[in-house]
Amino acid sequence: MRRYYIAGNWKMNLTPSEGALYAAELAKAVQKGKPDAKVMIAPAFVAIPAVLEAVKGSPIIVAAQNAADHLSGAYTGEVSLSMLKDLGVGTVILGHSERRAIYGESDALINAKTKLALSEGFEVILCVGETLEEREAGKLEDVLSRQVKIGLGGVSSADMSRVVIAYEPVWAIGTGKTATPDDADNAHAYIRGLINGLYGKDVAEQLIIQYGGSVKADNVKELMAKPNVDGALVGGASLSIDKFLPIIEFGL
Ligand code: PGA
Repeated sequence: MRRYYIAGNWKMNLTPSEGALYAAELAKAVQKGKPDAKVMIAPAFVAIPAVLEAVKGSPIIVAAQNAADHLSGAYTGEVSLSMLKDLGVGTVILGHSERRAIYGESDALINAKTKLALSEGFEVILCVGETLEEREAGKLEDVLSRQVKIGLGGVSSADMSRVVIAYEPVWAIGTGKTATPDDADNAHAYIRGLINGLYGKDVAEQLIIQYGGSVKADNVKELMAKPNVDGALVGGASLSIDKFLPIIEFGL
């Protein structure tokens, strides 16, 4: 069966030294508790080396929150997948709604990044999700279908074993409003159905679909209890050990 996958997206929070202190504490706690969930944290680029060092020897995965769609060249301010690979990073979050909304990343750009990351051997957490306006206009399925189909365009079924989808309704991110467990499960079931249509039953059944949007210690259990919810992508509540640890440990 699918293994729970709990991820912390630090966004633009925690300096390298703050991140390293917290990550070292988290690594100690995780090793003691031995959670059956896969656990990941995604620091800012500059904090990655210090955080990698701090979690050395623990099962915690250190991921990047984004990467460029080229491996090198004249792209001022960008960070490439080859640079991340050189550090020892093997997982990247792509298509986060903040990248889409604030930095104008299109489905086509996210697709280019996804294909490049997979060809470089990365695991990709592809984020999808609708805005409140889209949900209220009855466009949930259209939006998910577009983001999944374009985002995964040209991705082979073999590479799908390194793809995780994070369903993050934009209206639930950082707002304190969580989708109900049923809302999340329905959207996840719809996404799994899309993957079934594109890649068949085996790929659809092994796909990890994380839920993201105001996940906290007090709502994680009921979300994870849903059959199609296989993990969480946690923002605000991943920024301190007292908030994140109970989320990781929900299943212990
Ligand atoms: P949140 O963020 O948990 O603070 O709502 C989730 C995310 O954007 O990944």
